[in-house]
Amino acid sequence: MGRPIELAVRIGWYIVREKYLRARKRFPLVTMLEPLEACNLACEGCGRIREYESVIHRTLSADECLAAVNESGAPIVSIAGGEPTIHPQIAEIVHRITEQKKFVYMCTNGLMMSKIMKEISPSKYFCWVVHLDGTGAAHDAAVSRKGVYQIAMKNAEKAIQAGYRVCSNTTLFRGSNPEDLHALFRMCSDMGFEGCMVSPAYDYQAVPNQQLFLTRQQAISVFKQVLSTDHQSGIKFYNNPLFLQFLRGERNYKTCTAWSNPTYTIMGWRKPCYPLAEGHTQRLSDLMEDDLWQRYGNAEKNPRCANCMMHCGYESATIFGALSSPRDALDLVRSGAITKSGITAA
Ligand code: SF4
Ligand code: SF4
Repeated sequence: MGRPIELAVRIGWYIVREKYLRARKRFPLVTMLEPLEACNLACEGCGRIREYESVIHRTLSADECLAAVNESGAPIVSIAGGEPTIHPQIAEIVHRITEQKKFVYMCTNGLMMSKIMKEISPSKYFCWVVHLDGTGAAHDAAVSRKGVYQIAMKNAEKAIQAGYRVCSNTTLFRGSNPEDLHALFRMCSDMGFEGCMVSPAYDYQAVPNQQLFLTRQQAISVFKQVLSTDHQSGIKFYNNPLFLQFLRGERNYKTCTAWSNPTYTIMGWRKPCYPLAEGHTQRLSDLMEDDLWQRYGNAEKNPRCANCMMHCGYESATIFGALSSPRDALDLVRSGAITKSGITAA
């Protein structure tokens, strides 16, 4: 089916309307919706299943999900968790969001896609985002269970053949193998994935093995190999080219724009951002306050931001940065990539 042109047009118009016509200083581009935090896997590097352990049995109702999506108003909704496919009302949640012509990206570990495909039909408003951290044994090790890679790839292939939009999402940890990742990205591109998304992992304090995480300098060094232009032939990346340059250390941003990717969970909106929850709030407007962003957004403001290069904070920064750089704006338009600003979970 491919990336719909309507997505680029809608995002472009939405940014113009919110920034210039409504003169909003901060506003959401992507609603990150986590209708539950439970999962049918227990990956070693996952922050969510550990941070929300005490409320892991709770789920958001379809009405609560829709209320959060409407409060945000963003044209893109990324549904993550936890594993969204195990939410009992997931099909209703997706239908009610796509009915509003919002674009839904559903992040999944790929195990339950077949079951959900019976309830959600292919649509330009719906895209699977399959978590793949390597090929075969490398991915199985990352998700701490044998056989997951094979099932996820089989289900992704089935989805593509059935006419769904499908992307992959890869998180890089210490020890990620660039050659294995090149093989993965090439395979996904050959299979007809719409694109491959990449991001470094965030160093979640709740994860016992902190050795998994890369410092910012280490992440740049690995991304230089993974995203080397020598190896990009035949690979379709979904991230925009400015964000890929940022990951390779070729450009920098003074601060993230994580306020554009607010994250709603069973405890409310994560404050301040998708990777870092130093609290939750019931009011999205709290995440747009100057006072909050004087304390977060880069290493100078907060040491917890020091190693963060996540797409939820920086892919949107590339887009907002391009609004004041005609050259960057042209690069985004040429790449057709002004359609995504940090959609995925990691
Ligand atoms: S990273 Fe994703 S697949 Fe792994 S345990 Fe966490 S939510 Fe589940
Ligand atoms: S730099 Fe990262 S951790 Fe810090 S506020 Fe931005 S997205 Fe959150």
